[in-house]
Amino acid sequence: MAKEESEAEKEQKLLSDADERSLHYIRGNPTRRVFPSPSSLSSLSSFDEPFPSSPSSPSLTLSLLDTLGSPATTATNGPSYFGFVIGASLPIAAATERLVLAWDQSGASFLTSPISSKIETIAGKWILEVLNLPNNCAVGFGTSASACTLVALAAARRELLSRVGWDFDNNGLFGAPEIKVVISELIHITVKKALRVLGFGMNRLIIAPMDHYGRVDPSKLPPLDSFTILCLQAGELNTGEFDPFSQIIPLAKKAGAWVHVDGAFGLWARASSRSELTEGIELADSWTTDAHKWLNTPYDSAMIICRYPHVLAGAMNSDAVYMSGSADSQKNLTLEFSRRPRGISIWATLRVLGRDGVKEMVDRHCNLAKRIGEGLGKQGFEVLNRVVINQVLFRCATDEQTQKVLQAAQASGKTWFGGTNWQGRPAMRISVSSWRTQQSHGDEVVALLGRIAAECAK
Ligand SMILES: *Cc1c(COP(=O)(O)O)cnc(C)c1O
Repeated sequence: MAKEESEAEKEQKLLSDADERSLHYIRGNPTRRVFPSPSSLSSLSSFDEPFPSSPSSPSLTLSLLDTLGSPATTATNGPSYFGFVIGASLPIAAATERLVLAWDQSGASFLTSPISSKIETIAGKWILEVLNLPNNCAVGFGTSASACTLVALAAARRELLSRVGWDFDNNGLFGAPEIKVVISELIHITVKKALRVLGFGMNRLIIAPMDHYGRVDPSKLPPLDSFTILCLQAGELNTGEFDPFSQIIPLAKKAGAWVHVDGAFGLWARASSRSELTEGIELADSWTTDAHKWLNTPYDSAMIICRYPHVLAGAMNSDAVYMSGSADSQKNLTLEFSRRPRGISIWATLRVLGRDGVKEMVDRHCNLAKRIGEGLGKQGFEVLNRVVINQVLFRCATDEQTQKVLQAAQASGKTWFGGTNWQGRPAMRISVSSWRTQQSHGDEVVALLGRIAAECAK
């Protein structure tokens, strides 16, 4: 009689199966449809089944997920996806995640995971180095720029109130002095979301008007004071533009305002040869940025960086009688208590790339975006931005053509990028942010768009 498999043997087999399927998926990346085919999408209805009443074979569930699920993925981890700013997963980041998954650590504090605490402390230091920010800032590794912005703005409000003696933690906002918020006109929706969730009120936000390029215009900056939070951005999602930090932040700081910068992807320009775009950004009070976008780590991985470690640790403190931690424990810098130590794959990626490797990747993407912009111009498209970093904003002569070309490109399966609205008219946006994307992939998308435009013009 065959010996029954032990639990350990079953686990090994299942995990190996998953690893093999993952490798097979990765091998298919270069030729995968970039957006799933209609038939792969309609197969998704097979997942509509009743919740099972009894256990079943894990390997069958994995197989179902791979067989029907893999073809219904968008190939964001491939070379020809230019949508949003998505990034791919660098091999070292993906490999590290696999090991960390086996560790299954709760990266709350040293107590729950000494290794996570150690590595994330180093990752934080290296982040400040690669982004050239003050070396005594606190770095919290959170799930997303959205969550990290929420953290930053909560800490900012609490601190501005504390400077006039208001005890936010005990009294909340009942009867508190009003904190006003000034945002750039084109600030990202997730900053607005954070402000809304925190109760700042959409109707009360004060808009800082933009200049011709879509940056906050310093000459039209609304009045700021020590009860103001000013939200600026590095890397506008359509144009990639940067607010003129060196002109604005010193004024804001002089007025006593708190300056927060959303640099979800754009902050990485600071690690590149285009760092002059970020000049003066180091004067801000807090910053958010993603690793899952331009650093090409897997989801979900972002950072809140705060100039004043005690301010962040005060706002996010979650010490309890049964678990307290130092001020730099990640549970005291982020929203999470139990948490995946997402800083580890950031550390591994920075260790492998080094300063030069990060610079090379960001530069390569910016150079390729420039080349794509020039190529599209030659194909007769109207390029709407200056292509300062990795974003290309463009359209056809008529809105109808723009819509047609976009739909045809998305349906082609050869690439994918999204539409947007720029100054009241439809436009298309290409973002270069995957380590897998080479010059040839950029040239292919330009040629493809040329063919599609010619076809649509018939
Ligand atoms: C993507 C993005 C965000 C939101 O980041 P998430 O990590 O997706 O929450 C915020 N601001 C800008 C400019 C972005 O591009």
